[in-house]
Amino acid sequence: MVKRCIHIAETIGSIPILPIYILKLNMPELPEIETIKRQLNNLVVGKKIKKIEIRLPKIVQLMAPIKFKSLFQGTTIKKISRRGKVLIIGLNNNYSLVIHLKLTGQLIYIKTLKHSNIKTFTHVVYYFDDGSALLHNDIRQFGYVRPIRTSELDKYFSDQSFGPEPLEKDFTPKKFIELLKHKPNQKIKPLLMDQTFISGIGNIYSQEICFCAKILPTRLVKTLTDKDIKNIYKCLKQILKNSIKYRGTSSDTYLDAQGKKGDYVPRLKVYGREGKKCFRCGGMVKKITLAGRGTSYCPSCQR
Ligand SMILES: [Zn+2]
Repeated sequence: MVKRCIHIAETIGSIPILPIYILKLNMPELPEIETIKRQLNNLVVGKKIKKIEIRLPKIVQLMAPIKFKSLFQGTTIKKISRRGKVLIIGLNNNYSLVIHLKLTGQLIYIKTLKHSNIKTFTHVVYYFDDGSALLHNDIRQFGYVRPIRTSELDKYFSDQSFGPEPLEKDFTPKKFIELLKHKPNQKIKPLLMDQTFISGIGNIYSQEICFCAKILPTRLVKTLTDKDIKNIYKCLKQILKNSIKYRGTSSDTYLDAQGKKGDYVPRLKVYGREGKKCFRCGGMVKKITLAGRGTSYCPSCQR
C-alpha cells in the first residue's frame, strides 16, 4: 500500500491550494449530501464489497485499516442514509460507515472501474463484485470514514449534539420558534449554520435563506417578528428542497455520486454576487465577514 502525500503545489482545477483559499472553501451542505444519498441508494444498495483499498490510512478513523478491511470486505450494502452533512452507509454486518466529506470530499460511483478513474486524491476504493466501485476522494484530506455499530448511531449523533433535521416532518414552525426562543442574543445567519441548532445548513444556504426571508444576516434573534420567523422557516424549507431538486451547488469541488456538478449555482440569489445588482430590488449586493465567514446580502431589501 502506497502512502499518499498530497503536495501543496497541487491545484483544485486551476486554483492553487493556498491556506487563504481553504478559508474560502464551502463544505457540501444538506442538499449536496442528500443528493449523493439518493443517488447511491439507486446505485449501490444490494452490492457486495469484494475488496477495500485504503490509500490514505488517516481517512479511516476509530479503527486500524487492517481491521477495517477484514471487517467490511465481503459485506453487502443495505441502505444509504444521511444525518446533517454526514452520509451513512449501512451494511449487513450490523455496522455503518459514517462518512463526512468536510471541505473537498467526493463519493463517486464508477460503473466499470478503470485505472484512470483512481486519482492521486482517491483515498479509499470500495470494489464491488460486479466490477463497479465507489471512490472516496478528498483533495484537502479533512474528511473521514468512521465505522459505527448501526445500533449505536443514534447515540453517536446525540453525543455530538447534532441538531434537528430541517426537512423532517417533525421540524414544524412551532418547533422552530421554540428553538429560537433559547437563542435570543444570537445573530441569525451564524445560528442557522450552527450544526447543534439545526443540522445540515452551511455558509451558502444560510445566506440564501436570509436573502429569501428579507432578513439581514446580522439580525439578532430577539429582534425577529413572528412574520420574520415564519418567512425564515418557509425559505429554509423551500431553498433546501429546491437545491436538492437541482442536485446541489458546485461552488467549489462538490460533485454528485455520478461525478457531475450540481445545477443550483445559476439559481443562487445572493451568494457570490457581491458588487452586483440585487435580483429583487436592483440595489448593490454587499459582502461582510460574519463570524469568520464571507457573507453576501442586499442592504436595500434585507432588514
Ligand atoms: Zn435587494
